[in-house]
Amino acid sequence: PVVTRFAPSPTGFLHIGGARTALFNLLYAKATGGTFKLRIEDTDKARSTKEAIDAIIDGLSWLNLNWDGEIVHQSEREARHAEVARGLLETGGAYKCFATPQELETMRETARAEKRPLRYDGRWRDRDASDAPEGAPYVIRLKAPQEGEVTINDAVQGAVTVKNAELDDFVLLRSDGTPTYMLAVVVDDYDMGITHVIRGDDHLNNAFRQLALIRALGWAEPGYAHVPLIHGADGAKLSKRHGALGVDAYRDMGFLPEALENYLLRLGWGHGDQEFFTRDEAAAVFTLDGIGRNPARLDFKKLESVNGHYLREADDARLTGLITPRIAAELARELTPAEGDLLLRTMPHLKPRAKDLNELAASSAFLFRQRPIILDEKAQGLLDSAGRERLASLREIIAGVGEWTAAAIEAAVRVYAEQEQIGLGKFAQPLRAALTGTTTSPGIFEVLEVMGRDESLGRIDDQVG
Ligand code: GLU
Repeated sequence: PVVTRFAPSPTGFLHIGGARTALFNLLYAKATGGTFKLRIEDTDKARSTKEAIDAIIDGLSWLNLNWDGEIVHQSEREARHAEVARGLLETGGAYKCFATPQELETMRETARAEKRPLRYDGRWRDRDASDAPEGAPYVIRLKAPQEGEVTINDAVQGAVTVKNAELDDFVLLRSDGTPTYMLAVVVDDYDMGITHVIRGDDHLNNAFRQLALIRALGWAEPGYAHVPLIHGADGAKLSKRHGALGVDAYRDMGFLPEALENYLLRLGWGHGDQEFFTRDEAAAVFTLDGIGRNPARLDFKKLESVNGHYLREADDARLTGLITPRIAAELARELTPAEGDLLLRTMPHLKPRAKDLNELAASSAFLFRQRPIILDEKAQGLLDSAGRERLASLREIIAGVGEWTAAAIEAAVRVYAEQEQIGLGKFAQPLRAALTGTTTSPGIFEVLEVMGRDESLGRIDDQVG
């Protein structure tokens, strides 16, 4: 059975590239009836923080990217990593290297002068440890193959080959006994039973070294899928200026988690031309070869339109719950139960017009204004003397409507507009200005219905009175 994992380093927030990696891992596990695990790669103690771990967990939870079983913390497994390195010493797959910092510096300078990457020259590869001074510090290095080449059949990148001569005898265990990242990943993946490593293609180079280590240990090789990174709309690597933000920033911007999920899914993965997928639908058809080879580009406009789709589909009560805190923050007070109910009743008319939750909250603001409401400049412009006059005559028509529904009010206003030979818009705009204080709102007859007779007539009276 398939076992995948998401293995973030908690040095910042959960960025959207990471969220997409987690999603692909989860979907691949779900698609195959397998298991999806979470490992926090917190071995870099200087850079890993509790806040960053919490941000990753919050972000995953918000996106509903739920892992199976306990979280594995890499930092708690150092003894096991060291044990594996020492085991390799015994089988001859690794060796102690006593090269001094000075010797390494000389190697580095030579590499720099020759304009090539630093490669350890293997000076302790075939030398006996007894040559070293008594008690001298050492690192443990992998005795990597020097001849031939190694090919990874990557599910996304295809066959990628590297000459073994290009890989050096990299360090497994540092002189202070702590494991390197390369060692920790291999040991943890093995102990967690990981069958498929799906991650950003910035790790493709590491995969060759990791594979050399896996082979030295005689362990089963996982499948690899290195996913192209997300780039900005201009094709450049994603940076802060492009929106390389934590998923919490996307939540604050008013995106629904299922919208961000669907957007990230479709960013670099496709199945025919289907645009929207539920989690189960995606899992039913998810394959690694559906992942594109080219870097995907982040497109905010597209994300907003996807979000608009999910807003229209979302349950009214849920949306009401989601925007209530945003409204309360704006008003600097809680909503009353009656206001909450008003918001819920208005939601069907508000949600088709919004592209994010902040817009949705802002579009409901008129509901909670106290009379007399303050009109914005454009709304004031509509209520010039002609507008006022029209509004005054309209007030009588509206007040005479027996059944306070949008349909009944609309019917009455239409009859009146026809009789006066004035376009409906000429009535609707002053009415909207008086009722909402703005020039954009849901359909004005719906607004009248949800606000009720007294409040509606009162707001009109405040303008024509
Ligand atoms: N911890 C690595 C990162 O956050 C990922 C390692 C892996 O997936 O193998 O980039």
